[in-house]
Amino acid sequence: MSQLSWKHHALIQALLSRGPLKESEFHKVFYEITGRNPVEHQQAFNDSLRKINKELGYVKFELRGCRNQYDGKVYYGVVNTLADEQSKLGTKYSVPQIAFYKAIIEAIVQDITTQGHITNIGALNLRLEYQVQGGQDSQGSQSRVPAAFKSFSISQKEKTLNDLIQDQWLCYTSDGRIGLGVRSFLDLRSWFRTSEIPSCDVCNEAGVKAETCPNMECAIRMHSYCLKKKFSQRKVAKVCPSCSTPWPIPESYEGDEEETNESTQDNSPSNDPVTRKRLRIVKAEAVDAAANAPNDGPSQSGPSLRKRLRTCKAEAVDATESQVEETQGLRRSQRSRR
Ligand SMILES: [Zn+2]
Ligand SMILES: [Zn+2]
Repeated sequence: MSQLSWKHHALIQALLSRGPLKESEFHKVFYEITGRNPVEHQQAFNDSLRKINKELGYVKFELRGCRNQYDGKVYYGVVNTLADEQSKLGTKYSVPQIAFYKAIIEAIVQDITTQGHITNIGALNLRLEYQVQGGQDSQGSQSRVPAAFKSFSISQKEKTLNDLIQDQWLCYTSDGRIGLGVRSFLDLRSWFRTSEIPSCDVCNEAGVKAETCPNMECAIRMHSYCLKKKFSQRKVAKVCPSCSTPWPIPESYEGDEEETNESTQDNSPSNDPVTRKRLRIVKAEAVDAAANAPNDGPSQSGPSLRKRLRTCKAEAVDATESQVEETQGLRRSQRSRR
């Protein structure tokens, strides 16, 4: 760490001791330490982060920023880039508690309605047994379920939920459900990619809490803040960038035009069926490429997690199919009323 000055150390310490910080708070800390405002001295700010990350990389840590998908705000934190939850959640949480956390995260990110939350009851009803399946072989998995998983009670789950929310691994959403905490958004970036969580069409980050294309056969999703930024530009047609289906948007998006880099790109949609077909093929290829991409980091858990996710997904689909249809139907009718 000889390359880092006391200022770099102070920045790292601020994030480690105070947890993930809002962009404005981290900027304030940066200003207090360096005497420079990151908004005016963006280059100096970026250079500092690059220098810090070069050194932190040796010990598998990274200082990064990410968006909280519920409020669209940027947060900064220092994350452990080793991909297993054991090292991320540290020594504070027990093995069944970590399994419970993983079960909640998987339930939230697999929700095809991309509402990014689970109810309290839904979380408490999650079964930890699924966290054991999908290892090297799934035969006899029932007998390999640790006793601590089977005896993990509702009150232990409630306590764990509170702790995870307190530590910002989870959060309460504005409507009182349970969502991903800022720490999870920061930490799970590469896991989202290896787990094939579809990404936002605008920013390419995982679309956990996102809006989906009104066309049920189209897989396009966008974060509401990305959607707002994109569609508030007058030149951009208010249609799905892939299938050109008109995209219903709140009136508040219109008019407050923001000039962004995107306005220089050609976003004109095409109704030409050939183009649409080509787009679909490109999308399919992209999915294949993503699936075949090597895991980033030294994680060994990627493929088995993926397999486990798929297993869980298949099971979850049966259980939630009717519920999902109900929700989608509701959303459709809400949209058509607009
Ligand atoms: Zn986005
Ligand atoms: Zn679409």
